[in-house]
Amino acid sequence: MATTTKKPLIVITGASSGIGEATAKLLAAHGHPLLLLARRLQRLEALNLPDAMCRRVDITDREAVLKAVAEAEAAYGPADCMVNNAGVMLLGKMTEQDPAEWDRMLDVNVRGLLNGMHAVVKGMVERGRGTIINVSSIAGRKTFPNHVAYVGTKFAVHALSENLREEVAPHGVRVTVIAPGAVETELLSHTTDASIIEGYQAWKAGMGGRVLSSDDVAKAIEYAYNQPQEVCIREIVLAATRQQA
Ligand code: NDP
Repeated sequence: MATTTKKPLIVITGASSGIGEATAKLLAAHGHPLLLLARRLQRLEALNLPDAMCRRVDITDREAVLKAVAEAEAAYGPADCMVNNAGVMLLGKMTEQDPAEWDRMLDVNVRGLLNGMHAVVKGMVERGRGTIINVSSIAGRKTFPNHVAYVGTKFAVHALSENLREEVAPHGVRVTVIAPGAVETELLSHTTDASIIEGYQAWKAGMGGRVLSSDDVAKAIEYAYNQPQEVCIREIVLAATRQQA
């Protein structure tokens, strides 16, 4: 039986750490029921947020994403916002990187994000409202050393988001891109090349020890969502003040 809630359902992918986790906490504090998706179910459940349905879903599994969204909508009503945040960054040189790492980034950052949009966009168009927030990166606007495949995925996120925005704007549905610079999260830890990790850490240290926090990005997401439905923040680009590139 449907639960009556004051605020509508928000779906967040990759809510088990970093930006997704911070966004889940902030939106829960604003009273939203949530559907939280990631592979590390324990980390989702440990957040212990009210009205939060937690599901172990690999975002590349389209059927699993559709099933989880349908289950949450049956419990909390239609999804009013989808935060497509799940992502991986496996930095490497094209001359040395295992191609399986490009495949993984394309699968999660692009195909997974499309799966998230697919799960909600039709319903949003039918209802004439809704917001899709796609987490891209400054690496979706400009290139960085050792980022070839990663920037490819994030440029794709910028492009497909803008094209979806054009498609659904006449139906009253918003699409927003969030493009952060360096954020202190677990993201870098999955890169396998130790010297690239070291160089990235030195780059961050050069910013005076203060890159963005996950909370900084969560606040940008919340700001975009909480505009009146008639106002679409198309893109927010944010970075540490001392980030030059
Ligand atoms: P984290 O590594 O802390 O978080 C990544 C999240 O994505 C985790 O919750 C992880 O959950 C989830 N995830 C990864 N693969 C999958 C998968 N196959 N299925 C479902 N969920 C998955 O990093 P961030 O918080 O930094 O990253 C969030 C987003 O922000 C990413 O899209 C990233 O590209 C972007 N970004 C990050 C920046 C940074 O400097 N940190 C800068 C710019 C953009 P689990 O492992 O439990 O599945």
